[in-house]
Amino acid sequence: MVISIVSINGKVLKSPDPASTDQFFSCTHCGFITSYEAVHKNHEKIHT
Ligand SMILES: [Zn+2]
Repeated sequence: MVISIVSINGKVLKSPDPASTDQFFSCTHCGFITSYEAVHKNHEKIHT
């Protein structure tokens, strides 16, 4: 059974929020997102 939550403005809300169950790292420079800290740190090197 698929439960979809629709708010009053018609937008379908995704549940659960993936950010609440898994930790994600987002690049403050370009918005690159990964769930691996090692990948995140390695990525940030391209901005320095
Ligand atoms: Zn970046």
